[in-house]
Amino acid sequence: MPNPNVDWKALEARYYMQVRQREPVVLVRGKGVRVWDDQGREFLDFVGGWAVNSLGHCHPVMVEALHQQAHRLIQVSNQFYSAPQVQLAELLVKNSCLHRVFFGNSGAEANEGAVKLARRYGKLKLGGAYEVITALNSFHGRTITMATATGQTKYSEPFAPLTPGFVYVPYDDIEAIKKATNERTCAVMLEPVQGEGGVNIPHPNYLKEVRQWCDQKGILLILDEIQTGLGRVGALFGYQCYGVEPDIMTLAKGLGGGVPIGAFLAREHCSVFQAGDHGTTYGGNPLMCAVAYAVVKYVIEEDVPGNAQRVGKHLLTRLLVLKDRYPMVKGARGMGLLAALEFKEDIAQQVLMACLEKGLLVNRIKPNLLRFMPPLITTEQDVDEAVEILGEVLSSGSYLNVG
Ligand SMILES: *Cc1c(COP(=O)(O)O)cnc(C)c1O
Repeated sequence: MPNPNVDWKALEARYYMQVRQREPVVLVRGKGVRVWDDQGREFLDFVGGWAVNSLGHCHPVMVEALHQQAHRLIQVSNQFYSAPQVQLAELLVKNSCLHRVFFGNSGAEANEGAVKLARRYGKLKLGGAYEVITALNSFHGRTITMATATGQTKYSEPFAPLTPGFVYVPYDDIEAIKKATNERTCAVMLEPVQGEGGVNIPHPNYLKEVRQWCDQKGILLILDEIQTGLGRVGALFGYQCYGVEPDIMTLAKGLGGGVPIGAFLAREHCSVFQAGDHGTTYGGNPLMCAVAYAVVKYVIEEDVPGNAQRVGKHLLTRLLVLKDRYPMVKGARGMGLLAALEFKEDIAQQVLMACLEKGLLVNRIKPNLLRFMPPLITTEQDVDEAVEILGEVLSSGSYLNVG
């Protein structure tokens, strides 16, 4: 256990790159939907490692898989075959509309692979087309190319020159995609729900219309399911909620439930990589794949997406009651256990800090927007407890005195 008398915050300020203003909590332990800090304080975790800890903290199924595989084999390189990698690939293919998988170590890396595959497809099948249409307010990762793919200039412009070949359109606007498509277009890349960009849920027909347009033009539909995949929005994959099937899909976050792993999957017709086209040292290593296999198997067998849908509905209902009750709340939205609460003014950070003092962890994505992405095993009682705290904070105005 880290020594509670050490000032970890000061040491971080001294030694770590200062890329983020962190909340003043040093977390040392977690179990289920709860975490504890180095002072022994307990928190209800509605951040969930940023939509990663799908089974909560230190779930026995994960701990057991990690433990067993760590004793057996940890890393071999992709020069050789290893069973956990193949087992996980088979499990994902058999439970999705995609046919082949490649594993990496993060979301950004998965998206890099997806765009690389789409460009290869463009070269081989679309007369050299290379442009990828993405949405404004999207989020696709932090490498230079994925920061460029992300439709928010704050992530890319400080690092120019950027990767050429990305075109941006407003989200949830099929006409904009039609106008942006030309002979250079090889793919459209979208999130089924924009996560980091504000929990933006498109019209139910949007993705169907995009799918039809892509079919008509012979271009690929890439869905970035890094946040929405593996049960988060109430189905195993977000695309199932819209009745569409992507050509390429990316996963990360909930895939490993807390261990670093990402993946891109493709349908057979666009799995055009040949020997030497792509590779990785750590991607698909036995340790991560064994854990991810245990997580995905549990998610499927225990109908974790069903729980996310039920409990997510309850969360949204309760958040909408906050909107009716407290004038500073502008609105609430959500799909499964990905939800947001919007304020009329820029008070999200103050509300976050007041929640923290009352034992609830939440995430702020805009000055006036909080995001909730608790573990997918969260219960209705957990939701009631969280919303109770939010209600106390808003009714007492205690958020005005903190942060
Ligand atoms: C988190 C996220 C990413 C980036 O994943 P990293 O593992 O941080 O690289 C990409 N796309 C979406 C939709 C995400 O939510």
